[in-house]
Formats: sequence, C-alpha cells, structure tokens
Amino acid sequence: MSIQANIHKFKEELGEDVTLVAVSKTKPVSDLMQAYEAGQRVFGENKVQEMEAKWSEMPKDIQWHMIGHVQRNKVKYMAPFVSLIEAVDSKRLLKEVNKQAKKNDRTIRCLLQIKIAEEDSKFGLSTEDAKELLASDAFKEYKNVSVVGLMGMATFTDNEAQLRSEFSKLKRLFDDFSKTHPAFEILSMGMSGDYKIAIEEGSNMVRVGSAIFGERDTH
Ligand SMILES: *Cc1c(COP(=O)(O)O)cnc(C)c1O
Repeated sequence: MSIQANIHKFKEELGEDVTLVAVSKTKPVSDLMQAYEAGQRVFGENKVQEMEAKWSEMPKDIQWHMIGHVQRNKVKYMAPFVSLIEAVDSKRLLKEVNKQAKKNDRTIRCLLQIKIAEEDSKFGLSTEDAKELLASDAFKEYKNVSVVGLMGMATFTDNEAQLRSEFSKLKRLFDDFSKTHPAFEILSMGMSGDYKIAIEEGSNMVRVGSAIFGERDTH
C-alpha cells in the first residue's frame, strides 16, 4: 500500500481518541510529504539534527515529536519548534529543556520515558526515579516545561502476555500519577508491531513507523 493509503487506514482504525505519530526517522522529506498530503500533521523523529533539517524544509503546521534519547547539548537546536519531547529520561535533561524553553520564551511539553521492557539496554526512568522526579523541589521550579504524560517501549517480542503486562504496568503508573498531576493526558505506547495491544491496554498515542513508511534500512 502507498504511504497515503496507510495514513488513511490508520486514521480510520484509530479514530479520534488515539493520536497517530508518524515515525519518519531515516525517511526522505518526499515520503513525509506524502503522509502530509494525506492529512498527517504529527511526525516523530529520533535524531535532533534530522528533525531540525526536516522542520526547516516542511510546512510549519507540522507538530514535531522527539521520540529518541536526547543529549543535553542538542536540546537547543529543537527548542524553538519541538511540539513534544517524548523521551525525557533524566532530571538533568528536563532541567536543560526548561532552560532552553525559557530562552525561547516557550513552554515545552514533555513525556517521561519509563523503562518497561525486560532488556536493560533501553533508555528510560524506573518507576521510582519518575516518582522522585515528579515529587522533587527542582521539578516545581521548572516553569517552562509541562510534563503531560508518560511514554514506554515494550520488549521486542511476539509474546502477547508479556506485552500486555508491560503496557498495563505503564497504564497503572499513568493513572496513579494522573491523580496528583492534572496536566497528565498522554500515554504514548505502541509501535507498528504492538499498537493494537497497547491501545487495548490504554494507550492514547501510538508511534508508528514501518507500518506507514515501510521498513527502514537502519535505525
Ligand atoms: C523507531 C521507533 C518507533 C517506530 O517503530 P516501528 O516499529 O517502525 O513502528 C516508535 N518509537 C520509538 C521510540 C522508535 O524509536
């Protein structure tokens, strides 16, 4: 199927309640424009420079989500335009986002990335670290960031029971934090291979790359 047809299919399947982030990392602007012309306005990238280059070339009504691990010294390049930083995985990064947001006279929306997968290699905060961060005095002083929810990546597996258990764990944490943080509204979980299960477990934002744009050569 074409990129346009894939966008239409996902829009229809997801409806109004689940936001589709079209993960366009490694793909050329011409591919992104096909998605744009099919009505897609939210794109996800995992490298700051690549996102910045695409942002400068493409229509300005696009919302750009940073979905990958970010080095602190790169935050300044995306601070003027990024719509949502989905993968905040340390207090030091959040502090830098606050600083750069302030310089740009903006409030930048962020999600905390929580480690839910089995593999150690994946970035993310533990549940304990996230609790501590949200309760810290420093956090209350970050006036130019708004933490609006959580993001997680499940283990790369076909084991449905395991996926469900990882996603539902994140959903429970999200519900828990929501009680004390009224700004919480986004639970970003689910990718091409597992978005259906993620939605069943309570996701309201899915990050879909290969099922829209086709396989990537590299990550
Ligand atoms: C690449 C990536 C995705 C999309 O993966 P697909 O399997 O191609 O849908 C989603 N989330 C993150 C954090 C990614 O890096």
